[in-house]
Amino acid sequence: MADQLIRNATIVTMDDEFTVLDRGDVLIRDGCIADVGPGLDGGGAHETDASRLWLLPGFVQPHVHLCQTLFRGLAEEMGLLEWLRSRIWPLEAAHDPNSLSASVRLGIHELLASGTTCALDMGTAHHTDVIFDEASALGIRLHAGKAMMEMGDGLPEGLKEKPGTCLRSAVDLARRHHNTESGRLGYVFCPRFLISVSKELFRDIASEARRMGCRMQTHTSENLDENREVERRTTMPSLRYLERSRFLGPDVTLVHVVHISDDEFSVLAESKSHVVHCPGSNAKLGSGTARVPEMLETAINVALASDGAPCNNSMSMFKEMRLAGQLQSLRLGPGRLDAQQIVRMATRGGAAAMGLSKRIGSIEKGKRADLVLLDPHMPHSAAPSSDIFTRIVYGMDERNVASTWVDGEQLYDGEAVRGVDDAALVAEARRELEKLLERL
Ligand SMILES: [Zn+2]
Repeated sequence: MADQLIRNATIVTMDDEFTVLDRGDVLIRDGCIADVGPGLDGGGAHETDASRLWLLPGFVQPHVHLCQTLFRGLAEEMGLLEWLRSRIWPLEAAHDPNSLSASVRLGIHELLASGTTCALDMGTAHHTDVIFDEASALGIRLHAGKAMMEMGDGLPEGLKEKPGTCLRSAVDLARRHHNTESGRLGYVFCPRFLISVSKELFRDIASEARRMGCRMQTHTSENLDENREVERRTTMPSLRYLERSRFLGPDVTLVHVVHISDDEFSVLAESKSHVVHCPGSNAKLGSGTARVPEMLETAINVALASDGAPCNNSMSMFKEMRLAGQLQSLRLGPGRLDAQQIVRMATRGGAAAMGLSKRIGSIEKGKRADLVLLDPHMPHSAAPSSDIFTRIVYGMDERNVASTWVDGEQLYDGEAVRGVDDAALVAEARRELEKLLERL
């Protein structure tokens, strides 16, 4: 791959000091950031002029459901458990490899076109290889795992697996995909939530994942009805149950964490587990608002993500950043979760939650060149104001994305995702959804 030089950008490095370089260059060699600074000598590298553009590390979303992209708009105006049982689970159970492939492609297209370069995908019960195949073809950085489910009210037979089968297939998937494509793809063990997996399976998952050097993710404490079901079945609150199941630690990301007691808050902080905040999903499903500023003040790492298309209905990080700030303004007052912290959650926070802090999340020498260029001078966002972080969080959206790069390759150029014909993508999605609804 030829060296690349991005010239004359305003560089929002997201380093420890939140350094912003007014006018600087980034030299990319072998997919890595080889140098950052003003007036670099490209030595014949292919040059991209980024004058008047802002360069940021690509957004990192450590919780999406690419298998659900086809279902956008098909599960509206319901709370979590009804939403899962009456709509999402039956739809997921009707997937075949072709419909899953169409759904994943549609989702990755949206992520890349809105500046997300890396995601952690909680898949569905079956056909998980397809997710890795599509991520490989399209070039996004993706860590993923099958959604592990063995029990629970309303769970369709098509998604229910015997504990041994469920764990064995996850281990096989991890053997095939973990740390492949130079680390761009990785496997994560993903029990869906506490009421879909027994205590024994939870423990087995934790020990297998650690034995294989993989990370873990689950949804927890999203909704009060869910919490009541967990307490009824386990006789303890969710975080205590996860602690007992050895499913907490720096290698674990917990998604949502909206409703926890002060005791659970302490358990979470001591465990050094990561939290993924999904404000769009939490607001749409009426779940509640997580105590994000308090978590950050207690040194709990919090990342941001959109969750799946049907509970949002967008997968753009811009909407999550804006809503994350607005919800805390309503809760605690304006500025309580400031824009700089929000951009940090959307980049470095996500990288840390995926165990990738050494590789991505900031624009620094030695990191992978996962980048997004923003054009701030569009009619809806042009402003003389100087604060770059509030302008990104409150004034911009996916229209501002001028290009998206992963491992030093431009995968989106402001108009098209590399290798994808938009009309064909949408037609394929429509065709596959029709067939899926017939199978339902
Ligand atoms: Zn989710």
